[in-house]
Amino acid sequence: MLSKSTQTMVLSTMGKRYFSMSTPKSKHFKLVVVGGGAGGCSIAAKFARKIDPKSIAVIEPADMHYYQPQWTMVGGGMKKLEESGRTMESVLPKSITWLKEKAVGFYPDKNLIQISGKNQEPIQYDYLVVATGIQLNFNQIKGLIQAFDTPGVCSNYSPLYVNKTLESIKGFKKGNAIFTFPNTPIKCAGAPQKIMYIADSYFRKHGKRQDANVVFNTSLGVLFGVKKYADALWEIVKKRDIKVNLRTNLVEVIPKERKAIFENLDKPGTSETFDYEMLHVTPPMGPHDVMKTSAGDLVDPAGYVNLNKTTLQHVKYQNIFGLGDCTNLPTSKTAAAVAGQCGILSQNLWSVMNGKDPLGQYDGYTSCPLVTSYSTCVLAEFDYTSQPLETFPVNQAKESRVAFHLKKDIMPGIYWNLMLNGHWNGPAAFRKIAHLGFGK
Ligand SMILES: Cc1cc2nc3c(=O)[nH]c(=O)nc-3n(C[C@H](O)[C@H](O)[C@H](O)COP(=O)(O)OP(=O)(O)OC[C@H]3O[C@@H](n4cnc5c(N)ncnc54)[C@H](O)[C@@H]3O)c2cc1C
Repeated sequence: MLSKSTQTMVLSTMGKRYFSMSTPKSKHFKLVVVGGGAGGCSIAAKFARKIDPKSIAVIEPADMHYYQPQWTMVGGGMKKLEESGRTMESVLPKSITWLKEKAVGFYPDKNLIQISGKNQEPIQYDYLVVATGIQLNFNQIKGLIQAFDTPGVCSNYSPLYVNKTLESIKGFKKGNAIFTFPNTPIKCAGAPQKIMYIADSYFRKHGKRQDANVVFNTSLGVLFGVKKYADALWEIVKKRDIKVNLRTNLVEVIPKERKAIFENLDKPGTSETFDYEMLHVTPPMGPHDVMKTSAGDLVDPAGYVNLNKTTLQHVKYQNIFGLGDCTNLPTSKTAAAVAGQCGILSQNLWSVMNGKDPLGQYDGYTSCPLVTSYSTCVLAEFDYTSQPLETFPVNQAKESRVAFHLKKDIMPGIYWNLMLNGHWNGPAAFRKIAHLGFGK
C-alpha cells in the first residue's frame, strides 16, 4: 500500500539506533531537552545561543523530523510527504549533543533521566525541558491496524498512512466517506475535519459528490471548541450537505465487510454500524507510555507534564519546564501553541537559570488553520478563555484565500527557517501592529 519512497523514509526512521553530533564527553548537562520535535528543537536552538551549546543535550530517538501540519496538505494531494520531513541531524542545532535514544525513565527528585540502549548511564541535568509530544494509539481501535492494509482506510496522523488518504479520495466510487474524531485529547483538533472538507471539494471537482455521503462522526458534543468558528463551520457543513453525528466514537473496524462500529457516548452500551467506502481515522491519543509508568510526580494523574499554565514551569520542580503536546496546558495542542510557549518558556527558564523569578506569562495562544477546500481556509486563533485572538484586523471566521496561502505556502517556511532555529514566538508582535497597538 505504501509507495517505495514512503517506505524508504519510514524505514530510515527505524534504522540506526545511536548517533551523536558530538560524542558526549560527560553524562552531565546543564540543560537536557527530551524530544526533538517542534518544541524541543526550537527550545534547544534558543538556548544554544544563550549558553555553551556543549552543555545542552537533546534526547530524541527519531532519524526524521516532520512538519506534521503539512500532512493535511499531503492527504489532500497539495504537497508531497517527502516535503514534510527533514533529517533530525539537519534540524537540531549543530553544536549540541544529540543522544539518539528514548527517555525510558524520569527521576525528577534526583535530576536524572534513564535512556534506552544497552549499558547506558543515566543522564544528569541541572535544568530539564520535556517536549515528548503525544502518543498515537491506533491499536486502541479493534481491527484498525489490519484495516489500513485494505482499500479506503487511511489517516493523516501518521507518515505511514497519510499517502493512503489521497489514494482513498482518488479511488472513491460510491457510498459513505466517513471522517472520525476520537474520545481523547488530540493534537490539532481541526485536522479531522480539514481533510473532510478537502475530500468534499475533490469529489465535487471530479463529479463524484452525488455518489458520496460525507459524514463526520465526532466524539465531541460540538463541531469546534470556539463558538465563533463553530458557527462558521456549521454553516459550511450545512451548505455542503455534510452529515455531522456528535458524541459518536469509532470503536471497531471490520475491513472484510467494510464496516465501522461507533459507540453512542450519550447512550452507553449502544452502537451503530456504518458501511464505508472511505474511512479517515483520527486515532485515540494520550501521553507516551513512559510518562504514565516512569515519570513519578513529573506528570498529572492522566500522564501529562504538570505545569503552571502561565509560566510553563513545573508545579513541583522549579528546574523543570515543559511545552507542547505532552503537557497539561489547557489549550488546543498545536505547533502554533508551541511557538507561543517557546518565547515564554525561554524567557522564564533563562530567568530561573539566573536566580530570578519567572515572570513571562503564556495566555494559551493557539491557532488552527481550518482548510475548507483547495483554495480556502478559516483561520482560527484563540486563547485559554476560548476567545478569538486574531492576528489580522478582518473577520477570520470567514473562508479566505489569503489564509489558505498563509497555511499552504508561508507557514512551512516560518516553521523550518524561523521556528526551528528559535526565532519564532508566534504572531503576537504582528497582531499588535495589525491592530494599531490596540487589543491583546
Ligand atoms: C495531521 C496533523 C495536522 C496538524 N495541523 C496543524 C496545524 O495546522 N497547525 C498547527 O499549529 N499544528 C498542527 N498540528 C499539530 C502539531 O504538529 C503538533 O502540535 C506539534 O508538532 C507539537 O509539538 P511537540 O514538540 O509537542 O511534539 P512533536 O512535534 O510531536 O515532537 C515530539 C518529539 O518527541 C519525541 N519523543 C517521543 N517520546 C520520546 C521519548 N520517550 N524520549 C525522547 N524523545 C521522545 C518524538 O520522537 C518527537 O520527535 C498537526 C498535527 C497533525 C498530525
